Amino acid sequence: MNIILFGPPGAGKGTQAKKLVDFYGIPQISTGDILRANVREGTELGLAAKAYMDKGELVPDDVLIGIIKNRLTEQDCIKGFILDGYPRTVPQADALAVILDEIEKPIDVVLNLEVPDEELIRRISGRLICSKCGASYNRTFNPPKKEGICDICEGEVFQRADDKEDAVQNRLSVYKKQTQPLIAYYAKQGILVTLDGTKDMEKVFKDIKAVLVKFA
Ligand code: ADP
Ligand code: AMP
Repeated sequence: MNIILFGPPGAGKGTQAKKLVDFYGIPQISTGDILRANVREGTELGLAAKAYMDKGELVPDDVLIGIIKNRLTEQDCIKGFILDGYPRTVPQADALAVILDEIEKPIDVVLNLEVPDEELIRRISGRLICSKCGASYNRTFNPPKKEGICDICEGEVFQRADDKEDAVQNRLSVYKKQTQPLIAYYAKQGILVTLDGTKDMEKVFKDIKAVLVKFA
């Protein structure tokens, strides 16, 4: 099953991706997580990406296309994958189509999580993520059981630099300008399914599973 989880920052892509990994046993490919790992490890890629990420800008397409090409050809993607945060531009989507054509793994469905801006801002401003496994929490809606500690791996949870207020506004406008056009792009291909992302996490997951039944 080859899925794109699509939606603005804060829509719940990472949250739902983790549930799908547990349920279907296919990997989550989060380009944000891959970039943050590179920043943490101080790689050349991380150093180049950091300035864009801190401002809430997109990292250049050629960098992302290289990352995704390498990742999709890894062994664990054989049974399928969940793309989270990629593609974010039309050139990224075009490059993805070429890569997937080569490896004969077409996208089954693009799940578009719809959430209004006010709710996105509320969610992002309270988001906490685990520095070790990337699990996503929320100070208000979904706090870790022990303050500051990840429920899953006991890593430390923290607020991302780009979840601070000024970067958040910029990320939402970047989404509208550069990423939102992909909704029409995938609708035209007949593979877009739009879901109400404002429901609670378990209800959203149930709706996702109801869509995925046909592809499992
Ligand atoms: P994305 O990966 O799309 O940027 P996340 O999955 O990290 O979004 O979710 C953003 C924030 O919103 C996190 O703090 C998460 O715990 C919270 N969240 C996710 N889904 C829901 C939901 N359905 N209802 C309320 N809060 C949610
Ligand atoms: P995310 O974790 O998906 O919210 O991504 C965090 C940041 O990483 C984004 O604001 C971008 O700076 C960068 N990023 C992640 N995925 C992409 C992508 N597909 N294209 C460009 N930049 C990306």
